[in-house]
Amino acid sequence: MSGKLLPGFESRPLRQQAFMEGAPIAQMDRAADYESVGQRFESSWAHHLAPEGEADLVFMSRALDEARKGAESGEVPVGALLVSPEGEEIGRAHNCPIRSADPTAHAEILALRQGAKKMGNYRLPGATLYVTIEPCSMCAGAILQARLFRLVFGARDPKAGGVVSLFHILADRRLNHRVRVREGVLEEECRLLICSFFEKHRLREER
Ligand code: ZN
Repeated sequence: MSGKLLPGFESRPLRQQAFMEGAPIAQMDRAADYESVGQRFESSWAHHLAPEGEADLVFMSRALDEARKGAESGEVPVGALLVSPEGEEIGRAHNCPIRSADPTAHAEILALRQGAKKMGNYRLPGATLYVTIEPCSMCAGAILQARLFRLVFGARDPKAGGVVSLFHILADRRLNHRVRVREGVLEEECRLLICSFFEKHRLREER
């Protein structure tokens, strides 16, 4: 299978904007340096969950498992996992707008709802959301509403991405909250999963 099958989900460019320059997965995430305050916060976070790079891999592979479940039920395979500042999983969901007849039933929104319910708080400061694909503008907005600390995603979505591709909602200084971002964790797996899904559906339609 090739990434060329689905225009739009190709690999992210090697050279990116400075603030998104991806560090190797094994390294600590220091790339998304939006604010010095954020960086201090990141240092204290690192003590909770070191080595962060390894934890990111573990949580992203769980998000990928969740995305595969979505594919099995005919939904676009996107999976999300929400993790508390203590490293506890507090939400896990895959896309299911079709089955639930709900245009807002994206993996991120569902995981945020679970986490907020579990914590008994509509704000989730210190929490990290793992998503296999770059969140859309709606989900990026929800991430801001929840006051998340950090977002980690796998592959970009050049057609709908609200974080780096079409909009930069989480880094917009006009808004009163910013979220640290790391992209490219298990990127190839995340991208191939969604590409193969669309390819399969395209072939089915052509038959
Ligand atoms: Zn979304």
